[in-house]
Amino acid sequence: MRIAVIGAGASGLFVAGLLAQEHEVVVFDKNEKVGKKLYITGKGRCNITNLTETEEFLKNVVRGEKFLRSSLSAFSSYDCVDFFEGLGLKTKVERGNRVFPQSDKSSDVIKVLKERHCKNVEFLLDNEVFSVEKQEESLQENSKFVVKSRLGQFEFDKVIVATGGVSYKATGSDGSGYKIAKKFGHFVEPLVPALCALKISDWFVGLLQGVSLKNVELKVDSDGKKKGFFGEMLFTDEGISGPIVLTASSFINRAQNVEVAIDFKPALSNEQLDLRLLRDFEENRNKEIKSVVRGLLPKAVAEVFVKVVGLDENQKVNSITKQERLNIVNNLKNFKLSYGGLYDINSAIITSGGVSLKEINPKTFESKLQSGLYFVGEVLDVDALTGGFNLQIAWATAFSCARNI
Ligand SMILES: Cc1cc2nc3c(=O)[nH]c(=O)nc-3n(C[C@H](O)[C@H](O)[C@H](O)COP(=O)(O)OP(=O)(O)OC[C@H]3O[C@@H](n4cnc5c(N)ncnc54)[C@H](O)[C@@H]3O)c2cc1C
Repeated sequence: MRIAVIGAGASGLFVAGLLAQEHEVVVFDKNEKVGKKLYITGKGRCNITNLTETEEFLKNVVRGEKFLRSSLSAFSSYDCVDFFEGLGLKTKVERGNRVFPQSDKSSDVIKVLKERHCKNVEFLLDNEVFSVEKQEESLQENSKFVVKSRLGQFEFDKVIVATGGVSYKATGSDGSGYKIAKKFGHFVEPLVPALCALKISDWFVGLLQGVSLKNVELKVDSDGKKKGFFGEMLFTDEGISGPIVLTASSFINRAQNVEVAIDFKPALSNEQLDLRLLRDFEENRNKEIKSVVRGLLPKAVAEVFVKVVGLDENQKVNSITKQERLNIVNNLKNFKLSYGGLYDINSAIITSGGVSLKEINPKTFESKLQSGLYFVGEVLDVDALTGGFNLQIAWATAFSCARNI
């Protein structure tokens, strides 16, 4: 059988190598090199997967949890590690079960995929695919697919679309897979950024650029649904980013009304924090309020904080009223930020939305609307949190697709 794979990213390379053991496989990519996005994953180290049981894994899937259960069971993160080790790539497990190549080089992941796993695959690189059509008007079952590309048109028995999302377009994933899907009648769920920074419109954001906060809780309310994310974040030129912000973005990216606040002291209740302040005030009665707040927050944040709560930074601690103290406590626990939307989808780590899962068989990844046409990886309406989960989805969907064929 002759099979076309459109896209030489994570899912495309994986499915192509598996199928080439028995079939004639041709991979198309618009880039002159394979795995351009893979190269930048994990800050150039490639967090290949997350070594965890399927049930635990699924808790980190934001969209497509039910749909992915079968493929993630068929090819688990343990299978993924075995696969790469089998190709001769040594791996290591880091904090949070994140798996990386021992060399810390994403280029090594690409190398074993291309040179060892895909050794029987034909690559047509620097060759953008413009369209995929069924050969005959009648769309007969056994009629061929015609793939029209920059280097010409080619015939295939089956076509696998592995074109990725629309984030980081410079890596090649510019959304052309959605056009192919639509041409065959598929519905594409609206595309929104996920795992991205949030814009904040408060006057102080620029002043705090580069400041990072550890052990804080980011509290979000999206259309009335409240969630808290504990960990590390940082201020950017226009807003906030960092691990907990990226995670939060994946849960609020479809909401109409979003409220965001920081709890600077999540380990303390309001009462405990008030007692701590009373003690600090007692010990520093004749000092300025800014020096007490500096004991609780990073310097740059403390300076902004004092202004936001409406105090004069030189005000003496002994002149602070009870109401002012309680206001400080409330703001330390619930420091409101003015949400200004998500950063652009091009800067998002992942695209949320894509080819509707209702029209795809979750065991084979074949289109329910057109036999012989398959969709794998990020082009589907699936997304997960950071930690190697998204690449595992690419491997697992590709595996089930290949196994079925
Ligand atoms: C900065 C960054 C860091 C990341 N780090 C991690 C990480 O460490 N771990 C993790 O699990 N996930 C990570 N991800 C997410 C992960 O990279 C993606 O989920 C994954 O690459 C998706 O694989 P894919 O095969 O579906 O698509 P892609 O890897 O995007 O591949 C799609 C390919 O299709 C090609 N293509 C598209 N349209 C056409 C066309 N018309 N003709 C020919 N070729 C075409 C593109 O050139 C591209 O090569 C990261 C993402 C980014 C942006």
